[in-house]
Amino acid sequence: MSPALAQPSLSPISILLVEDNKGDALLIEEALEDAAPKAFLVSHASTLEMAEPQYRQQEFNVLLLDLNLPGVSGMEAVEKLRADLPTTPIIVMTGLDDEKRALGTMQRGAQDYIVKGQYGNNILPRVIRYAIERKRFETRVIELVHFDQITGLINREVFLDRLEGVISLANQNVMPLAVMLLSLRRFKDVTATLGHEVGNKLLKAVAVRLKECLMRQDAIARLEGDEFILLIAGQLASPESLAGFCQQIIEAIERPFEINDHSVRIGCSIGVATYPSCGKDAIELAKHADISLHRARQNVKNTFLFYTQTLNQELNERITLEKELQAAIKRQELLAYYQPIVDLKSNRICGVETLMRWKHAEKGFIPPNVFIPLAEKSELILEISDYVMKQACKDFLSWKDLIASPFYVAVNLSARDFQQKDFVERLGHMLKATGMNPKDLALEVTEGTLMENPQQAIGTLTACRALGAAIFVDDFGTGYSSLSYLSKLPLDILKIDRSFVADITTNGHNLLIATATINLAHALNLKVVAEGIETKEQKELLSILGCDKAQGYYFAKPMPASELVAWLGRDSAVA
Ligand code: C2E
Ligand code: MG
Ligand code: MG
Repeated sequence: MSPALAQPSLSPISILLVEDNKGDALLIEEALEDAAPKAFLVSHASTLEMAEPQYRQQEFNVLLLDLNLPGVSGMEAVEKLRADLPTTPIIVMTGLDDEKRALGTMQRGAQDYIVKGQYGNNILPRVIRYAIERKRFETRVIELVHFDQITGLINREVFLDRLEGVISLANQNVMPLAVMLLSLRRFKDVTATLGHEVGNKLLKAVAVRLKECLMRQDAIARLEGDEFILLIAGQLASPESLAGFCQQIIEAIERPFEINDHSVRIGCSIGVATYPSCGKDAIELAKHADISLHRARQNVKNTFLFYTQTLNQELNERITLEKELQAAIKRQELLAYYQPIVDLKSNRICGVETLMRWKHAEKGFIPPNVFIPLAEKSELILEISDYVMKQACKDFLSWKDLIASPFYVAVNLSARDFQQKDFVERLGHMLKATGMNPKDLALEVTEGTLMENPQQAIGTLTACRALGAAIFVDDFGTGYSSLSYLSKLPLDILKIDRSFVADITTNGHNLLIATATINLAHALNLKVVAEGIETKEQKELLSILGCDKAQGYYFAKPMPASELVAWLGRDSAVA
């Protein structure tokens, strides 16, 4: 903190007095000493030129500036000092007939003025202390408005302003320029498991690491959440260097962060837009970097992507699709498909998972991993979830006579469903309206959703359980589960993600994870479903490992309700 920002304390206040008239300077020093002996340490300079080396060498708490210095106008003097010393309060000293001019200097950044010779009633120390306080307040406001409170980096507005400035420089000097938008991966997992304090420290540490990668003329800001924006100017932004530089940043973020005795590993995705090919101004560059970031994020690996026209086209298509999805429910284009879940002991079907399909009038079948994320961006997902639950219950009741209980119909829910305060109430209404026995319904929630806000999940799941529904944890192994929370959550089944099942017969690592998951589930008194079984070998291996149930193309692909009825009608062992 600069001395100008220091609390007025008992230690002397250092003043740089810029005054060409020796008599006036002496009068001020005397007035200060009389008013408060030893409270002020005054250094004197007769001209602005003589003052400069002094304030460059030493930081002063306050500057007292004569408005009538030789060779420079009062306004110019204030402007120069304001630019050189942005956080030091300035008080101008003026003659009786010059108050109007003194007021003008306050608009240029001076904190106050005093009329020369009128030093009665201890006015001088009071003006000085007020000026210091006022400047301190001003600086704090500027900090709040322009800087991110967590990382100390500039914020979006200041960044875009600077970017505009650098763009006009780039135009004059033909300098390469690029905007990079970076978002962290697994940041939410970190805050969910280790808390917000660690999350904030991590953001700070990321900011430091990113700054280390930058050159002096580059700029960096934090946008909301775990997003950062970087301005790269000059050599690093040249086509030969930029890709290598992005990779260097990815590697810097991949190195573990040591925070509060935790070794935290995260990753990042980067979207890049270069000037002028990807945008003519700051806003356009940032927007196009965002489009590339969005695509880079879809990659399972930490990666970077440069903006292209094709990406823009994809975005437009996505926006169109989003609009069409809103009409899809009304047009009855959303269809519920069902995939059998098989009990590995009896080899009989013991339930089904509801998986949605969108039968688009022109584009044909659109898979859920395309349209569900679109729906999740808005309240539309709530409508879809209501629709899916209702449809699944209705279908289940229509084939109920063909099956022996216990038999679950499982539906997938999104994080957004869970965040709704009235979710349990809606579920209760739906069960009543359809006449479904809650014991036949299972709710699938991904591990990520549960760990996003485990406290809230415990509350909501307990209430769903109280209604009678079962809870399945979907895609287990892909998230960042906290074992202590896992034991507190009211769960019934863990579903091992299919990425671990796919090569379980050949990949020792995945075999280990599947085995550990089964043992963990059983220790917590839960059952296990293995997803994505495609071969007899996979099924047999999982049976040996003690896995309770399985689901996958080996048994059956997801199918419409009508086909499932035929399938159930066969009523024989499935494998
Ligand atoms: P999920 O809930 O983990 O569903 C399992 C996915 O694995 C399904 O993909 C299923 O078709 C696929 N699958 C099952 N067995 C095999 C197999 O042997 N091999 C392979 N390669 N794949 C198999 P699908 O139907 O494309 O659904 C993808 C994801 O979309 C689902 O993953 C679920 O997270 C989400 N989803 C589907 N329907 C809904 C829904 O109604 N609401 C919500 N919120 N999400 C849904
Ligand atoms: Mg599922
Ligand atoms: Mg799954």
